[in-house]
Amino acid sequence: MKRRFTGLRGRQPDRSYDAVIIGAGVGGLICANLLALAGLSVLLIEQHYMVGGYCSTFRRKGYTFDAATHFYPLLGNPETISGKLLRDLGITNEWVKMDPVDHFHFPDGSSFAVPADFDSYLEKLKLRFPAEGPALDRFFAEVRQVYMVGLLSYFRWRKTDRLQPYRKMTVREALDRHFSNEKLKLLLAADCGHWGSPPSRTSFVFDSMLRLSYFLGNYYPRGGSQAFADELALRFEERGGTILMASTVRRILAKNKTANGVEVETGPAHARTLSIVNAGVVVSNADLLSTLERLLEPQHVDLHRLSSIRKLRPTHPCFLTHIGLKEMPTEVLREAAGYHWDSWDSDQVATRAFKIFVPTLYEPAMAPAGGHIVIVQKLTDINYDAIDDWAAHKAKVEHYIMSNLERVMPGFSEKVVVKLSASALTSHRFTANHHGAMLGWEMSPNQLGVARPALNGLLRNLYFTGHWTQPGGGITPVIVSAMQVARRITQSHFGDLSDKRDQLVAAGEFACVA
Ligand SMILES: Cc1cc2nc3c(=O)[nH]c(=O)nc-3n(C[C@H](O)[C@H](O)[C@H](O)COP(=O)(O)OP(=O)(O)OC[C@H]3O[C@@H](n4cnc5c(N)ncnc54)[C@H](O)[C@@H]3O)c2cc1C
Repeated sequence: MKRRFTGLRGRQPDRSYDAVIIGAGVGGLICANLLALAGLSVLLIEQHYMVGGYCSTFRRKGYTFDAATHFYPLLGNPETISGKLLRDLGITNEWVKMDPVDHFHFPDGSSFAVPADFDSYLEKLKLRFPAEGPALDRFFAEVRQVYMVGLLSYFRWRKTDRLQPYRKMTVREALDRHFSNEKLKLLLAADCGHWGSPPSRTSFVFDSMLRLSYFLGNYYPRGGSQAFADELALRFEERGGTILMASTVRRILAKNKTANGVEVETGPAHARTLSIVNAGVVVSNADLLSTLERLLEPQHVDLHRLSSIRKLRPTHPCFLTHIGLKEMPTEVLREAAGYHWDSWDSDQVATRAFKIFVPTLYEPAMAPAGGHIVIVQKLTDINYDAIDDWAAHKAKVEHYIMSNLERVMPGFSEKVVVKLSASALTSHRFTANHHGAMLGWEMSPNQLGVARPALNGLLRNLYFTGHWTQPGGGITPVIVSAMQVARRITQSHFGDLSDKRDQLVAAGEFACVA
């Protein structure tokens, strides 16, 4: 696939930069753009030959598959802070709005499509569950209130007493407080797979923020995830930034409790070389545990902090089957798309549910003319370290997925041109995410806010951005973490760049995403 940015292409990086960023996931890419916009010299180092991390694509037999992310809430809406940030960063990529936002298929054969307009959604819910009208009004009034509280406390780092009644509440507890109808409770949590954790372990506050953000627009990037990631890389280079691809940071250098550079392995596979790059600040967008356990020397890591981080619970990995199809009727796919449940208990999301996503409904160019793409996502509840036969694991989950696709769309297998699956091991291999976790640590009430690893404070001049740190996992929270890190760096280290910082502030206000 042709890249839109240049990268260093065999040239060595300079000896020293104001900032070195480890990892070109969305967290690294946004942070790199904001720091370059502020006038800093920035080196972005990515181990893979593509940028984007979980927001990348790959191509087989003319079909282009999103490797992971497919829902991009808010980003196409310039009225929201994250949508405005992208516009201010010069991102011109078109966003295709999803309507319906999602589609759920239930064990009794019924289904429900979620309209993109909130009032229509609520009206449709009340029509489906006429006896629950007042309870639905009370529930969504609470969701609205909690949404604002969540923005303030988790996305703006402000203290508010209004969080207290909801801080420990899970989605399951909130639903149980308002409803007794099991079918309605599943409907209201049927998309919980996107959290990588069951509702009984997912924060009601975080869920409310996402739930309402869908109605401000949920998007798919024109050209797929790579088009978005590549444009972020291109704009970064236009701002003077440097990208070093296919290069792995092996060590973060530090002295006197202060990070001051990295050791990076680079070059062709047969002749890898190690070099040192000095840095005013180091930002890690890489998996947090490997940053602490492998990139930093043990004497620089507070053992107490490390052991409490090791106790955090990662999100489930998401198994994916990518399928290129020919001669498959669009209407059959439109009807089949969405979450399929064979249990009314949403806590069984990792065992009794899967999701069919059809990117070609939004962007036909992802497949050859007349073709379609199906990507099936299935959370897996596995003991990663205990799996010794990954091929057998892959074959088993793929069999489950293919037999379900055949059940939902009889004759499906005959239309398959290309099929390949990705397990937790694949996710780990391409992005180095711990155990192939989908969104970093679970967004459970006890793993958010100050209980989630902080953006900085471990060593001077060392920062973390991405889904393993605050505020949480998913594209919007990751963008918020990158904005906050860029803000802290420019405020604490580069005070003389005040004129540039004004531009930076104008480019996002680093405040909240709404
Ligand atoms: C299957 C799946 C579906 C998802 N769907 C959605 C969705 O629809 N909507 C949504 O909002 N979220 C979704 N998510 C979650 C979302 O993709 C992630 O939360 C987000 O992309 C994480 O971004 P990041 O920048 O933190 O990290 P990553 O995307 O993991 O990027 C980290 C980068 O660092 C690089 N790296 C690591 N170590 C090193 C090193 N030592 N040296 C150099 N480079 C290194 C990696 O190669 C990688 O490119 C999904 C996740 C998965 C797995």
